[in-house]
Amino acid sequence: MNFNTVYYEPDSLTYPLGQKLKADFSHLPWIPIKSHNRIEEMQKKSNAEFYKMKSYLIIGTRKTHRYVENAKISDYLVPFTSSGCTAACLYCYLVCNYNKCSYLRLFVNREQMMDKLLKTSYQYSHPCTFEIGSNSDLILENTITQNLQWIIPYFAKEGRGNITFPTKFTMVEPLLPLDHQGKTIFRMSVNPSSIIDQIEIGTASLSKRIQAINSMCEAGYPTGILIAPVILTEDYKQLYEELLITLEETLTEKTKKQLFIEVIFMTYSFIHRAINQEAFPNRPDLYHKELMTGRGRGRYCYRPEARAEGEIFIKDYIKKYLPEAHLVYIS
Ligand code: SF4
Repeated sequence: MNFNTVYYEPDSLTYPLGQKLKADFSHLPWIPIKSHNRIEEMQKKSNAEFYKMKSYLIIGTRKTHRYVENAKISDYLVPFTSSGCTAACLYCYLVCNYNKCSYLRLFVNREQMMDKLLKTSYQYSHPCTFEIGSNSDLILENTITQNLQWIIPYFAKEGRGNITFPTKFTMVEPLLPLDHQGKTIFRMSVNPSSIIDQIEIGTASLSKRIQAINSMCEAGYPTGILIAPVILTEDYKQLYEELLITLEETLTEKTKKQLFIEVIFMTYSFIHRAINQEAFPNRPDLYHKELMTGRGRGRYCYRPEARAEGEIFIKDYIKKYLPEAHLVYIS
C-alpha cells in the first residue's frame, strides 16, 4: 500500500497501535482531524478523485460497537478494527455505505473491540460465529497493523464460537503458524480472472488467491470460498465454468473435501455508477438496463428471470466440478 498522507484523530496516538503507526509512517505528512467520520476536505472532493483518495490513510478510534444480526455464514456482523480498503472493486458495497469515504480507516482501540467480542461470545445459549471483516479487508489491513497475529490466538484461547472474515488478498504467511484451534474461519472471494483484472482493481490474482486458500487449509483453518459477486456478463457461463474448472484443478484434495461455498449475485447502485463513470471512465459499465431492475434507494439487482437462470447454472456446475463442497447459500 502506498499512502501519501495520514489523517489522524490526535487521541489515537495514546494507543500502542497508534504509536506504532506513527513511527511506521513518520515519513508522511500527518494531518489532525476531529473525526474520521467527517473529514471536510474529503467530502468536498469530486467523484473523479475517488481512487486518489484511496492513497490517504485515516487513523482514529471506533466509537460505535453495535453488532448486527446476520443469517448467512455468521450470526453477527461485528464492527472491528478497520473500514474501507485501498483497492477499488467497481461494485464494492462499502461505496454505498460510506459513499466516497471507502478509503482505509484504521481503528486503534482494538483492546476495547476485542473485550466486547470475547464477552459477547459467552452471552448466547449456543456458540456463535462473528463476522469481523464485513467493513474492510483484514488480510490487507494486517500488512500494516499485524492485528490478526494478535486477534486469532487471543480469540482461540479466550473466546467462544468462531470468528470469520472474507478477503481478496493473499498475504497469509504470518497466519499459518498461529494457534487458531480451528476457531477462525477463512473465506476467500473468487471470480474469473478477466473480472478480477478489469473490475476488482488492486486485488490479488486468482492463482495467488487459490494458493492462499490451500495454504490456510493446510494450516488447519476451516476454509471456504465466496463466488462473489457473480456478474452476468454476456459470456458469464463460459467464464464461471472456466473458474470452476480452475478451482477443481488447483485446489488441493484436502481443501476440496472440507470446502464450503457461498454464492452472491452482484448488486449495484446509482452511486456506484456516478463514481465509476468519472473515476474509472475506461472500465466496463456494470449497469445493464435489460438485466437489472431497481431495488429501492437507487440500488439495482438482477431481474428474477436472469438471476434464476444464473443460479441454476452455478449450482449445477458447482455440483459437477466441486461435488464434495458444501454450498451454504446463494443470495
Ligand atoms: S477488496 Fe473488498 S473492501 Fe476492498 S474495494 Fe474490493 S470489495 Fe471493497
